[in-house]
Amino acid sequence: MRIDLHIHSTASDGSLSPSALVWAARAGGLDIIAIADHDTVAGIGEARAASQDRVHVIPALEFSTTHDCGEVHILGYFIDPAYSDLLAYTLDAVEKRRERVRGMLARLAPYGISVTLDEVVQLAEPGTRMLGRPHIARALVRRGFVQTVSEAFDRFLGDSAPAFLPTELISPRNAIELIHAAGGLAVWAHPRISTLEREIDRFVSWGLDGLECYRPNASASDIRFIEALSSRRGLMVTGGSDWHGAWQGKLGDFYVNGSDIEALLDAGGI
Ligand code: AMP
Ligand code: FE
Ligand code: FE
Ligand code: ZN
Repeated sequence: MRIDLHIHSTASDGSLSPSALVWAARAGGLDIIAIADHDTVAGIGEARAASQDRVHVIPALEFSTTHDCGEVHILGYFIDPAYSDLLAYTLDAVEKRRERVRGMLARLAPYGISVTLDEVVQLAEPGTRMLGRPHIARALVRRGFVQTVSEAFDRFLGDSAPAFLPTELISPRNAIELIHAAGGLAVWAHPRISTLEREIDRFVSWGLDGLECYRPNASASDIRFIEALSSRRGLMVTGGSDWHGAWQGKLGDFYVNGSDIEALLDAGGI
């Protein structure tokens, strides 16, 4: 069985619509996928409708949380996408992310870059509501202010770059609680080893269920570290490509096997 538990659609900053993702996953030989968009569950319904059970779609999302040490992404798997508090969170996130983009655009003005929020929305994929830095980066490319998305991040949008503003949506603790209330499992996405070592006790005390371990560019030593820590702390391990579009290769080239993530599949009743 070939599985990818971390894929983004146009519901957030991915480049394929949820249904196109399902077709690409099938063409790429995947059996199970999780659509894990930033702060939204808006793509799940369309993906499930398109899948016709040929690809199993696990409902998920990726929370952008704010912690003392900066931004931490927490994945929620097997959540009920219709859970009211979760929907309230995503509606709030749409507004806050829109205001953040407005603020970042204002910070670009001193560099002679004038792009409006409407232009960013118009240049985004149809249907995009959950705006983020990639949408700004693509608008800067389209308008000729930079040559590539990487240049946009390096010069302006990266975590330490001059136009950056943090997403201030939710704490890790509250995200974990919301995931549990929505019937799901909470997994720390792409953890940095240094942060993990320092923070793991607190996250476990807040109810964390798992750590994302298998990723396209993860080093063998990081994988061994996360596997060992997970087994010591009774956490599940998960894996996924964090795929946003064709520039990251072909969907399905990276996958995990059912045996790698058995505990999560069992807990989700798969
Ligand atoms: P945001 O959630 O708005 O802070 O944007 C974060 C997203 O930007 C990540 O999920 C990636 O999709 C993308 N991203 C972050 N850093 C880079 C980078 N250096 N180059 C290209 N995309 C990036
Ligand atoms: Fe992203
Ligand atoms: Fe992430
Ligand atoms: Zn992601």
